[in-house]
Amino acid sequence: MTWSEWKIPPFITSVFFVLGVLTLFWVSINWILTAIRTHHLKIKDTTVNTWYGFIYMIVFAFSMQALIAGSPESWIFMNFQLIAVTFCGYFLNIHVKYYYLILIDVAFMLFNGSYGSWQSWLHGLTLLGFFLTLGWLRENLADHPWQFRALVYHVTCVGFGSVLWLLMKLKFTLDWPTYWQELGYLAIFEVLLYIYASMLANNTQLENQLVAFANRDALTSTGNYAAYTTEINYRFQTSSKNSLKLSMMMFDIDHFKRFNDTYGHLAGDEILKHVVSIAQAVLDVNDPGAKLFRTGGEEFNIVFPNYDLHDTMPIVTQIFSAVNHLEVPFNEQRLQISISVGVSSLSSADKTATDFYKRVDQNLYYSKEHGRMQITAK
Ligand code: GH3
Ligand code: MG
Ligand code: MG
Repeated sequence: MTWSEWKIPPFITSVFFVLGVLTLFWVSINWILTAIRTHHLKIKDTTVNTWYGFIYMIVFAFSMQALIAGSPESWIFMNFQLIAVTFCGYFLNIHVKYYYLILIDVAFMLFNGSYGSWQSWLHGLTLLGFFLTLGWLRENLADHPWQFRALVYHVTCVGFGSVLWLLMKLKFTLDWPTYWQELGYLAIFEVLLYIYASMLANNTQLENQLVAFANRDALTSTGNYAAYTTEINYRFQTSSKNSLKLSMMMFDIDHFKRFNDTYGHLAGDEILKHVVSIAQAVLDVNDPGAKLFRTGGEEFNIVFPNYDLHDTMPIVTQIFSAVNHLEVPFNEQRLQISISVGVSSLSSADKTATDFYKRVDQNLYYSKEHGRMQITAK
């Protein structure tokens, strides 16, 4: 820095400060969520969002207050703290029991040295009401048009803000111009927060849709080849490293080309969708942890984590039997199909996921070459 005097007005600095705090939150939570996904940890995105967001905002509010706690100016960061409350109460889906909030509030007053003032206690109660109202609005206004939601949000923030600032005005004997100025700043911050948080939420939604799109087969909605590759590589690594069981079933529809040639591609498509739904139904009943993928035109793989060959066979036979008894309705006809199956489990001789895959594939080909509509497992 070469300049010796900071000429930007505090309000502008505050705007960028608030945006910076939110951006840091956004970047860090995405980093955490990516790390959780990479390590296949069974923690829901919403749980991380809730708790990380909550802790982040508490640290933010307390550390800012540490700079001025107990001083005659201990009100100056209140708008920042109200922004933190709004962010947690409205934009993060937080379900915290009200008595925990009371505890946090009391802790804040002890920390701030303001527990002896009636205005501070009333302030704490109003803040609690503000937080709970925001959560209620979020839950109950979801079906209303966004214009109405934005209006109710803003009226609520400014309404509670005016009461909270009035209590601070009484406690610190602030003058009216200061009161109106702070309330005006709060109104502007809340609008900025609304726009910024909505933009971030839209981004996340779009990102999630793209990830889902990139990993789903468009015709059958089951996992595609990309999703299969991710799953098998991850399962192969963790199972080999930790000596866990792993098995795989692969199946291919017999003489599928004939259906296309006789009834047209739409009939073929219809068959593929029915095969996926029946195989998935069997998995849902047995073990939703086993994942089905469409790995080729009419080829499918199912990965069974923590299964050996013996454990897998009852599910394999159920799928085999269900698909072979399937009658797919198409233009007043009922199309009957059959599948050939290959099954195998992980062996200590498998050096890569491809070694494992090759054995399953060879078993499938054995079924094809020996008359189709059969299971080969070894
Ligand atoms: P086999 O019993 O040896 O497996 O014979 P097959 O006819 O099933 O196998 P082949 O590999 O000769 O033909 C597979 C056919 O699957 C060819 C291709 O047109 C068709 N196919 C691939 N993807 C789709 C799809 O998305 N929809 C439809 N309708 N057909 C598809
Ligand atoms: Mg086939
Ligand atoms: Mg094939």
